[in-house]
Amino acid sequence: MSKSKCQMRFYEELNDFLPPGRRKVRFIHEFQRRASVKDMIEALGVPHTEIDLILVNGQSVDFSHIVQDGDHISVYPLFETFDIQPLVRVRLRPLRVSRFVLDVHLGKLARYLRLLGFDTLYRNDYDDAELAHLASMERRILLTRDRDLLKRAVVTHGYYVRAVEPRRQVEEVVARLDLYRAIQPLQRCARCNGLLAEVSKQEVWERLPSETRRSIEIYWECGECSQLYWEGSHMPHIRRFIDSLQARAGGGVPKTGPVAELGQ
Ligand SMILES: [Zn+2]
Repeated sequence: MSKSKCQMRFYEELNDFLPPGRRKVRFIHEFQRRASVKDMIEALGVPHTEIDLILVNGQSVDFSHIVQDGDHISVYPLFETFDIQPLVRVRLRPLRVSRFVLDVHLGKLARYLRLLGFDTLYRNDYDDAELAHLASMERRILLTRDRDLLKRAVVTHGYYVRAVEPRRQVEEVVARLDLYRAIQPLQRCARCNGLLAEVSKQEVWERLPSETRRSIEIYWECGECSQLYWEGSHMPHIRRFIDSLQARAGGGVPKTGPVAELGQ
């Protein structure tokens, strides 16, 4: 069987898996065996779990596409799909954990993202250099309404938030990053980003308002700042809000698990 050739190009951090000569350039790949694009990409060293979109001759394909002689293949990680939606992706949901660091003017958005379970760093006194450094070092997605911040060379994962109103902002971020299925309500403290753990009512009895003692049985406590959470009335709209996100995702948001309210 004669050799066939295709052209390959990998984008962004997928290049980390390639030898230096093949990084960030289009290169010729010769092959003899009939192979799926998934097998060919993995043979070149890039794990399929890192990939979100494959274009062959400009068309979106799934992993099973059989590579043909002369194919032009472009392979994108999750984050690169922002500008090429609404092409079909190779998988139904992103595999990566989406983690964030937020600019100083996005405090309310930070609380929302934490309530939805996303690891979200926020402080109102980070300067631009710190934000860029955190995004780069911890591979966090930098959310900001400052376009210049996103132009910093060190920032590889950033998103310019268009909306101004916090609730619209979280809807926008969840939609643009396709986070519907990654929502895990009440895993994180809205106040400090610490992880929550269920605690017994007896343990926290002294700290509860009398009305709460009577009506609520299940409590969570932040491992960092000890903030208590329970199903309550402090943020009555959060459950409806998550329901509305769930509706947009076509039922993809987990229905089970605690959807509690911000206590105290
Ligand atoms: Zn906390």
